[in-house]
Amino acid sequence: MKYKQAVAFMVQAFVQANLSHAKRRKTGAILIREVLDGRHELLGNGYNGTKPGACNKCEDEEGVTLDYDTVIHAERNALDKVDENLLVGSTLFVTRFPCSPCTGLLRKAKVKNVYYCETSQDPLKLGDLTGLNVVCIPKKDVLEYISLTTYNLTKEKFT
Ligand SMILES: [Zn+2]
Repeated sequence: MKYKQAVAFMVQAFVQANLSHAKRRKTGAILIREVLDGRHELLGNGYNGTKPGACNKCEDEEGVTLDYDTVIHAERNALDKVDENLLVGSTLFVTRFPCSPCTGLLRKAKVKNVYYCETSQDPLKLGDLTGLNVVCIPKKDVLEYISLTTYNLTKEKFT
């Protein structure tokens, strides 16, 4: 995949993150797969939040994120929307490096590539992605892409 395309998918992951009700850490994810002619197909997307019908409260009174069963992480939300057969060999774009339980889900689903942007401050919470193809997209590249998109939007006239 061309780097510019990868940055564009990461921007989509950040657009998802912005939909999250989490106050402390908004995280977004996009799942894609390569189709035969080298093009990519969007499989699913997600952001961190609570189960459908729940109150969308992601942190306790001290601002600490609630447990893994209460807050559905972005990766998990994205994975749950996609047929498991389509996930084999797929690619995840996630705004933050996956945690350990989400890494387990990614391995089970046989996701092949993981693109992330930011890393959690707590190294103990990071998943072990050994064996997967892992790529970091620096935040400056995401910001540059968004800035360029905004520039193009403001100079073009849409009718
Ligand atoms: Zn997670």
